[in-house]
Amino acid sequence: MSKYQVIIVGAGMAGLAAARHLNKANISCIVLDKGRGLGGRMATRRVGDATFDHGAQFFSAKTPSFQSFVKEARQMGAVNEWWPGIPDTTHPRWIGASGMNEVLKFLHENLTILQGKKVAHIAQAAKGWQVTTDNNETFESAALILTIPAPQAIELLENSETGLTSDDWSPLRQIAYHPCLAVLATLDQPSNLPDPGGMQMDGGVISWMADNFKKGISKVPTITIHASPAFSSQHLDGDLNEAGKILLEAAGIWLQPAKVVDWQIHRWRYSLACQRHPAPYWQAGTSFPLLFGGDGFGMGNVEGAFLSGLAMAEQLLTMNSF
Ligand SMILES: Cc1cc2nc3c(=O)[nH]c(=O)nc-3n(C[C@H](O)[C@H](O)[C@H](O)COP(=O)(O)OP(=O)(O)OC[C@H]3O[C@@H](n4cnc5c(N)ncnc54)[C@H](O)[C@@H]3O)c2cc1C
Repeated sequence: MSKYQVIIVGAGMAGLAAARHLNKANISCIVLDKGRGLGGRMATRRVGDATFDHGAQFFSAKTPSFQSFVKEARQMGAVNEWWPGIPDTTHPRWIGASGMNEVLKFLHENLTILQGKKVAHIAQAAKGWQVTTDNNETFESAALILTIPAPQAIELLENSETGLTSDDWSPLRQIAYHPCLAVLATLDQPSNLPDPGGMQMDGGVISWMADNFKKGISKVPTITIHASPAFSSQHLDGDLNEAGKILLEAAGIWLQPAKVVDWQIHRWRYSLACQRHPAPYWQAGTSFPLLFGGDGFGMGNVEGAFLSGLAMAEQLLTMNSF
């Protein structure tokens, strides 16, 4: 069994921000993620020369700590400015230089991250926590941080032995997410979307469209279409192929004269956190530290996930429980 000071579940923005901060303070930590790629919902899909940001589309930086992270990432060439603002011009919109997950690749340097590890059970151990994956690998640590979406955290708690009851984790039940269906289409020429290639849309089946070629991340013209929360909820567990066709038809005017040469659809059961816990994390009342964070806490976006990760790391360092 592998032992660490801190185990972090989730290699998205919150988990990696926490891990990086702890790592800088010489705390031994490991990040476990069920996915094959880094970044969680800061997701980029690459198919040959076609690249799609299909989760988070851009982020802003309104707080000094995130601004200083963005500055560092920019100096490393991992982040670019996309445009100065939608609809305000106060905060620039930032993107990963070759796709959103590049921002996370920059963050993960020097960290121990294990991918393809789905955490299925957590239990109190003699000096902290024992974490078991769905293929029965176990890890132990003094402190545990969970950055997975709240409904998944609740499911994990229900199947675990933490000493907590469902009343204890009521803060997690306040948190809710919109679903989002995302169509990723390759075009034979750039779309008709005005520069710089992104558009919010209200009132219809589509809430957002982005031209990844105009955005500067794809070598060939590709488009990302995000369905509205209402349309996504309605079609989430239905025929995704049909839903994709409806979305492509609705997008038609913004594609012309380009033709779709290939497309696929991705289902995000949890996209933007529409109901959040006000604080940047929640700490359970357990003998050994157990912290819950991510974008369901505080601001509720990429920046909020970063701040949540940082706040959890700070809390563990302040508690000095190692
Ligand atoms: C379609 C869409 C559009 C968005 N648009 C924007 C936007 O334009 N701007 C913006 O700021 N934000 C946007 N967001 C939100 C933004 O992506 C998130 O707020 C942020 O990425 C959340 O980071 P996180 O670390 O909290 O969670 P995540 O990125 O979800 O990371 C959690 C990680 O936990 C892993 N995991 C889950 N369960 C387990 C388990 N049992 N064991 C191990 N690992 C597990 C997952 O694989 C995942 O990698 C969007 C999100 C989506 C989906």
